[in-house]
Amino acid sequence: MARHQVDYTKGLPVALSTVDKLLNWGRSNSLWPLTYGLACCAIEMMATGGSRFDFDRFGIIFRASPRQSDVMIIAGTLTKKHAEFTRRLYDQMPEPKWVVSMGSCANTGGMFNTYATVQGVDRIIPVDIYLPGCAPRPETLQYAMMVLQQKIRKQRAFTPEAKKRLL
Ligand code: SF4
Repeated sequence: MARHQVDYTKGLPVALSTVDKLLNWGRSNSLWPLTYGLACCAIEMMATGGSRFDFDRFGIIFRASPRQSDVMIIAGTLTKKHAEFTRRLYDQMPEPKWVVSMGSCANTGGMFNTYATVQGVDRIIPVDIYLPGCAPRPETLQYAMMVLQQKIRKQRAFTPEAKKRLL
């Protein structure tokens, strides 16, 4: 490059990392979980959304449609009969999306080591956060969502490979 020419691509990585931060800030502070309770863990999930624990202050607002949601909280026992619909709902959610597996049943099938129960939802869809317990308390779900927020804040929409293509 000649000396008098200005390299406009120099500031691009800095600009993209700033865009990353902005996107992640917005995404992590406006998580909209799909209303999706399967069994008794769902009661704790509902309590988390109630006034005592108040999910709204984290920007977490439950939605009734997968097309408006970016988080799926699997709260309860997933049966093999229902697994197909779980996958379909997951596929209907727009990208980027995340999954929280809530409780022992969702994580591993729990006490239901039977032919009818899926032995872990990660056999059907990818899981980001596993939440132990039977049933986990609302504070545990709140903490899991805060861990998910931290994970989202570290994500990069513009990977080094994408930046190289732009340069
Ligand atoms: S983990 Fe416990 S509370 Fe949750 S769905 Fe299974 S049996 Fe119910």
